[in-house]
Amino acid sequence: MKAMLLHKVGALAEHPDPLELMDLARPSPKHDELLIQVSVCGVCHTELDEIEGRTPPSILPIILGHQIVGHVAELGNQVSGFTVGDRVGVAWIFSTCGSCEYCLKGDENLCANFRATGRDAHGGYAEFTTAPADFVFRIPTSLTDVEAAPLLCAGAIGYRSLRLTGLRDGQNLGLTGYGASAHLVQKMVKSLYPNSDVYVFARSEKEQKFSRELGAVWAGDTSDTPPEKLQSIIDTTPVWKPVVEALRNLAPGGRLVINAIRKEAIDKDYLLRLDYEEHLWQEKEIKSVANVSRRDVSEFLNLAAEMNIHPEIQEYRIQDANEALNDMKSGNIKGAKVLRIL
Ligand SMILES: [Zn+2]
Ligand SMILES: [Zn+2]
Repeated sequence: MKAMLLHKVGALAEHPDPLELMDLARPSPKHDELLIQVSVCGVCHTELDEIEGRTPPSILPIILGHQIVGHVAELGNQVSGFTVGDRVGVAWIFSTCGSCEYCLKGDENLCANFRATGRDAHGGYAEFTTAPADFVFRIPTSLTDVEAAPLLCAGAIGYRSLRLTGLRDGQNLGLTGYGASAHLVQKMVKSLYPNSDVYVFARSEKEQKFSRELGAVWAGDTSDTPPEKLQSIIDTTPVWKPVVEALRNLAPGGRLVINAIRKEAIDKDYLLRLDYEEHLWQEKEIKSVANVSRRDVSEFLNLAAEMNIHPEIQEYRIQDANEALNDMKSGNIKGAKVLRIL
């Protein structure tokens, strides 16, 4: 099978082509797994964190990719409930222990043995992949393969972030950073909180314009000051300046939710500008988002189908995965990037 393989971690600036197109043997499903013929796989910012070593793969070489849509090609001998040909998806959550206190109370995203697709097990930048059947999702029929892929991570974690803000209809929401997840959150807000206004902080004018087209009442740079204080802000940027600036723009009692698996160190000194009175006092809160649970993914997939959410897509061929990653790194973002495998 064709696969894009990562051999070693390193800065993308120094190694702009980290993935190599290779011909590998097709994997076999273990007794509890499904073999999936991959149709498309979304490209996520977390792949940059894996490649550059901020959340390094636990196995190398590895096939990245955790927003996988395809069809069941083979069943492990202990799997039931699936048939060859079923259309399915695999998300960031590859497996968890199932028995710790977090798993037992539904917070499996916090499990110490959380294994991530494309980081701790081979992912979807390939023609075939395997995944535990218990962690595989059915894709609603109203979504095409390409549309469904970014919903599996960008959408699901956006949904989790939005839940964690505790937003109520009519309260305004800020989004700092405007990639795949943020634009999906904006679409969700339109349906779930029709009386809430969305304010967007984005570095490029292209992203700001795009957000206004999707209904943002205001869009500016991360250091700009919006006309209103904001009840909640979701940060999806990889850096620190937007965190400090977001805290400045929060209303009293407001909450900043940081949806990022890792932050880069390039502007960490910006944190020294943190002023208790201006940025934190008045009971402002900061909460991070870690991983996703199966509930987040399946609830969001159903919601997306119900609400008729269709992400904006930029498509690449599998052999152009490096180009997609470099475009993402340089901020050339319009909607969600998806690799076409088949
Ligand atoms: Zn992701
Ligand atoms: Zn656990």
